[in-house]
Amino acid sequence: PRSSPTVRVRPLTCIETRRDDRQVVHSLGDGSVHVSATSSLGSGGWLQHPLSHRCPHTQVSAARHDATFGFSAVFDAGASQEAVFEGSGMRQLVELAIDGFSCTVFAFGQTGSGKTYTLMGPLTQSETRPAAPGLLGLMQRSFACLLEQSRSRGSDLALSASYLEIYNEQVQDLLSPGAPCALPLRWSKTRGFYVENQLTVDFESLEAITSLLLQAPNALLAGSQRRRTSAHALNRHSSRSHALLTIYVRSRAHHPQTRVPQPSACSSKQGTLCFVDLAGSERVKETGSSGELSVEANNINRSLLALGHCISLLAKPRGKRTHIPYRDSKLTRLLARSLGGSGITLMVACISPSSRCLSETLSTLHYASRARRVTTRP
Ligand code: ADP
Ligand code: MG
Repeated sequence: PRSSPTVRVRPLTCIETRRDDRQVVHSLGDGSVHVSATSSLGSGGWLQHPLSHRCPHTQVSAARHDATFGFSAVFDAGASQEAVFEGSGMRQLVELAIDGFSCTVFAFGQTGSGKTYTLMGPLTQSETRPAAPGLLGLMQRSFACLLEQSRSRGSDLALSASYLEIYNEQVQDLLSPGAPCALPLRWSKTRGFYVENQLTVDFESLEAITSLLLQAPNALLAGSQRRRTSAHALNRHSSRSHALLTIYVRSRAHHPQTRVPQPSACSSKQGTLCFVDLAGSERVKETGSSGELSVEANNINRSLLALGHCISLLAKPRGKRTHIPYRDSKLTRLLARSLGGSGITLMVACISPSSRCLSETLSTLHYASRARRVTTRP
């Protein structure tokens, strides 16, 4: 296993369908995805130009936006949550975390492209009516896998979680009660980068970890706060912050008298499984954004660029690698262990099929393509 970007194309939303948006993204079925700007020439599409029927060059310039990208897997609008879990390598990632590796899955893409849906499923309107099991995201499916393993291994496997957010280059603990405050990010020789005073909570059931996520005192997703926060404000905040849920998987040493001997019987080890819901990758227009917004936008761009930079440097053959600038952003510092060394990452690039999202879709696919060749092996 290694770092492997996969692509998920969400279905057109009701609004997009009603608007008659063109579908410009097509999965070719062999792990490649085709983006055709020309198909939007018909009506109301992105490339419709007042001169298009007269200008002989339109076709040419439109054709320039035609592109095919290859990935390890592409999930189109019809792909179920289960298909994404099984087909993306997520299950193997969970198993590797149990084996002691640092594993990370990150969802990347513009706001509204399906990052949160892929990780957590559709957000339910009420706490009393949870989402249908079939719609649960990669997180819940991974928890179920971990808990199943934990149950079959008895007390040998212990699970705990931390939940952090990076907002405006400040790390906040979403689990700690009380007003959110910025926690210092430190580095030590033995631990690498770590967040000081971060709260870690043990869990032993799906209900416990799910309610931890939904009721985290400082998470905007938290049920209690959801009522007070308009959906718009919620999305605005979540699209500008990176959320990192880390599951620590500790397997304890077996005693010699254990009935079922394990190959790893002699040592205890800790693996991690980190879920990263990245901030929206769209460029925020300079004009019209208030001072506060442009600071946010700069911070988001900075950390996504730093992440892309680290990823592309890691993609070089080991011998030719220069220094990897993890220190360039809080995000890359926190992800340093997963990206380099023996870390294993899975990137899910989320895109909208709509012609209106064409340029963001192309930039997401280019970004993901750069991640393609990262081959840090355990
Ligand atoms: P993001 O987190 O990238 O901003 P969301 O996950 O919130 O995007 O998705 C935006 C909207 O599209 C939500 O209403 C979500 O339920 C819907 N959506 C996203 N992906 C899918 C999908 N694969 N199938 C059905 N609906 C989806
Ligand atoms: Mg989201």
